[in-house]
Amino acid sequence: MNMKENVLIIGGGPAGSASAMNLLQKGFSPTIIESESFPRYHIGESLTTECVDALNRLGLSEQLQALKAPQKQGVRVFSKHPENSFYIGAGDAWQVERATFDTMMLNEAQKRGAKHIQAKVKKLTQQTDNWILELDNGQSLESRFVIDASGQQRLSHKQGLFGPIKDGTYQHQVAFFAQYHGIKRKNSDQFDTLIFHIDSHAWCWMIPLSEDVTSIGLVVPVDQYKQKKLKPDLFMDHRLSNFSLPMMERTKDATRISEVRTMSNYSYCIDEYCRDGLFCVGDSHRFIDPIFSFGVEFAVVEAAYVARAIEKCCKTPSKANEHHHEYMQCTTQAQNIIEDILAYFWAHPWGFANMAHFRHADEFLEIFAGRIYETEPGEGLLKVREELQQ
Ligand code: FAD
Repeated sequence: MNMKENVLIIGGGPAGSASAMNLLQKGFSPTIIESESFPRYHIGESLTTECVDALNRLGLSEQLQALKAPQKQGVRVFSKHPENSFYIGAGDAWQVERATFDTMMLNEAQKRGAKHIQAKVKKLTQQTDNWILELDNGQSLESRFVIDASGQQRLSHKQGLFGPIKDGTYQHQVAFFAQYHGIKRKNSDQFDTLIFHIDSHAWCWMIPLSEDVTSIGLVVPVDQYKQKKLKPDLFMDHRLSNFSLPMMERTKDATRISEVRTMSNYSYCIDEYCRDGLFCVGDSHRFIDPIFSFGVEFAVVEAAYVARAIEKCCKTPSKANEHHHEYMQCTTQAQNIIEDILAYFWAHPWGFANMAHFRHADEFLEIFAGRIYETEPGEGLLKVREELQQ
């Protein structure tokens, strides 16, 4: 095996940078092609425990500590009434500003030896055994292995290399998000993620980013937003002002300190997402939903699995199809656990709280910490799946 084999990585978000670091640990020579100049804004600030563990396995604990980010212990979920809330511990994890976190990741990948090209990949084509990338700076790159970590841009799908794409359950939702000062915090959940939900699929998040800055997101069905015919900032201000009692209790003295950003139609799934040395990682093949914050975990844990798959393809090329299949099977199984847990949460919020708190507390704790890879479904998950079938 040529241990200095180059691997081209499209995108320098968490999936791309973590893929590069995992490949470097295995002796490959990765090149990240990222279109944006970092630091750049990105949503997705709350990390799971398993995500942090995966970052620690990459030797990033000091770099994470240096971000001086708030440390979260879990998630508190509120319904309409202040007395109805439940807490799910998640172990030790972090709330991070993604601009800083993603820059740390990309810089670290470069420090360890990854090449970085700032350019946009315009075209991806296959020629015999290799993939050819055409960049918007006129450069053309070639390699046997390519990782598509292009996030919601889904480059390889858009180039017709993978498909079809299916709408996810939460596809027709829109998220509004901004940063705030003056959010009331309680000692018991000072740096935790707070989720407030009312009707099915209408919810808010509060993620503390520092002592006095909090990220707030509002998620509603697209139709609800269109009916109001308001600009995003007015819609968000209006909706937050009467969202639910527990939410309003925390926001009554709040001031918005950033513009309101939006994202819609972000939930999708591509069933086949690797072949012939081209692998999708992170959002480039699937995104379920932001609630309970699993996106960055999927990106960085899949990055470890993809590096393993590429190493195996080099060692036993005759079994390459098997290695591609293993990668998809393991990553799909983990995502399916979260898909089912979320479906159950919306279908039976109080049955969910009961399971998470009493009946299957240990198992739910593990799931919420993100320990969902290569695990056998426990009794709680089997019960969830059985009830979803009814
Ligand atoms: P990205 O982070 O999007 O990175 C992709 C990179 O590829 C980008 O930097 C882009 O510039 C680059 N790129 C794209 N196309 C090209 C091209 N053609 N050429 C070169 N470069 C290219 N996750 C959490 O874990 N916690 C949360 O709290 C959370 N909240 C969320 C809230 C909302 C509303 C949404 C929609 C998502 C949220 N997520 C959250 C999900 C999380 O943001 C993503 O899952 C995560 O960023 C995926 O990482 P990635 O590396 O796959 O993609």
